[in-house]
Amino acid sequence: MTEPHEAVSDCLQGLAQTLRHHRELGFREMTLSRVPFPDPADALGAQERALQGCRLCKLCRSRSTVVFGSGHPRAKLMVIGEGPGEEEDRQGKPFVGRAGQLLTKMLASVGFDREHDCYITNVVKCRPERNRNPEPDEVAACNPFLMAQIDTLQPQVILALGNFAAQTLLGTKEGITRLRGRTYPYRSGVLVPTFHPAFLLRNPGPEYKRMAWEDLKLARREHDRLTAATTPHPGPLP
Ligand code: URA
Repeated sequence: MTEPHEAVSDCLQGLAQTLRHHRELGFREMTLSRVPFPDPADALGAQERALQGCRLCKLCRSRSTVVFGSGHPRAKLMVIGEGPGEEEDRQGKPFVGRAGQLLTKMLASVGFDREHDCYITNVVKCRPERNRNPEPDEVAACNPFLMAQIDTLQPQVILALGNFAAQTLLGTKEGITRLRGRTYPYRSGVLVPTFHPAFLLRNPGPEYKRMAWEDLKLARREHDRLTAATTPHPGPLP
């Protein structure tokens, strides 16, 4: 078991690392909230405003809109894709194209309403040109924003869609076919990797569909088990 002084030391090292990373990204100021437990909707709103006009990586040249995320700010299921496509870039919302329509159906098939039960975002918030994979410097520049979203929501379950999101979040090169089918401990909860809906659209055979269905049922079970076992997110102090 970790001693309290070791836990504090780990925490401070983590904070120092985050601050150094922000400094490397060009941040010179940080406003500290006076509210110890800000309302998640307020915190996400502030993070989204902070990202407007972001020029921390070269994706700022190919995007027209920063696609921050959408859904319920107290959702316990967070869905993470790769990066916005053309339609998402146009509308400023994640997963609103064909893959998004399939995602909405996949979530609904296990009883999740995408607006009320989920929060959906991507590893990078700006569209890479011609929908290429995001590059390591782009992922690194966006990572503090993704981590801030995760730590604000404190999801019990993260559904990682496709190779790119699963590999980035788990820090592995293993492919999705090997990663899927089980859970991984991840920050406040567990991560469930599954196929990206765009992959399922390109490969409509029953085999991948069945595996994705198994993953969704796993995410549902984990969500119900973990939400039953914990107290709600603390609200703002009076
Ligand atoms: N694919 C993604 O990975 N994210 C989106 O928002 C849309 C398509």
